[in-house]
Amino acid sequence: MSKDPSVLLLEHHLKALKLPTLLRDYASVAAVCAQERSDYPQYLLRLTERELIDRERRATERRIKEAQFPVIKTIDSFEFGAQPSINEPLMRELLRGEYIGKKENILLVGNPGTGKTHLASALGFAACSQGKRVKFITTTALVTQLLEQRENRSLQRLYKQLQRQDVLILDELGYVPFSKTGAELLFDVVGRAYEQTSLIVTTNLPFEQWTEVLGSERLTGAMLDRLTHRVHILEANGESYRLKQAKARKRK
Ligand code: ADP
Ligand code: MG
Repeated sequence: MSKDPSVLLLEHHLKALKLPTLLRDYASVAAVCAQERSDYPQYLLRLTERELIDRERRATERRIKEAQFPVIKTIDSFEFGAQPSINEPLMRELLRGEYIGKKENILLVGNPGTGKTHLASALGFAACSQGKRVKFITTTALVTQLLEQRENRSLQRLYKQLQRQDVLILDELGYVPFSKTGAELLFDVVGRAYEQTSLIVTTNLPFEQWTEVLGSERLTGAMLDRLTHRVHILEANGESYRLKQAKARKRK
């Protein structure tokens, strides 16, 4: 049996208006509403609610994809008990995302394996769910990109892309020292983000040692000044989670 022309037109309009959930559900919800004797506004309300919920879910999924997390990590899989040095109340407060509106930064400092990247990812994931644009990148990869784009004379494009973000996560500052130009370009990014974009930086280096990777003391000072003007610091000083798990496996 071919479809009624008015149904064909309706489906065409719903597609043109980009209302995929309405298109999918209008008939089944109509059947339910007929059975429950709901009136027309109730029918429309149910459909539009579904469309809105789906649209938000798709947008969140898109933002998570665009953020380019290395692995999706959320707070649900983080055991605070395994890392008592982490300030759990502060972390829970930060997950609510108010720091983003206030353009505040977050620094996660501590030994390798203590969950810094996990927590930074969880913060980014939460921000995506709150409708924020997030980008996750290792500091080394960012500096490499900056140097490349500078060669290609397309730095401005990269800066624009970074400026569009609400949260920029710079993972693993401190493992690899930067060239002079690399450090200057990184400083530029931090300077541009100042009071515009929230930065989340993870590092194994205490502040005194930042000069070792950034080279110049003057530049390190200026960068720390921007970064720490409005900052929340989460410190992780315990044993490596990976190491602890490996030891536990060995004991078994
Ligand atoms: P860091 O960035 O500090 O070196 P990671 O966040 O990469 O550490 O953590 C190493 C691994 O251990 C990851 O797979 C992470 O998910 C896991 N991990 C670390 N701490 C915890 C924790 N407290 N609870 C659950 N998983 C953890
Ligand atoms: Mg890490």
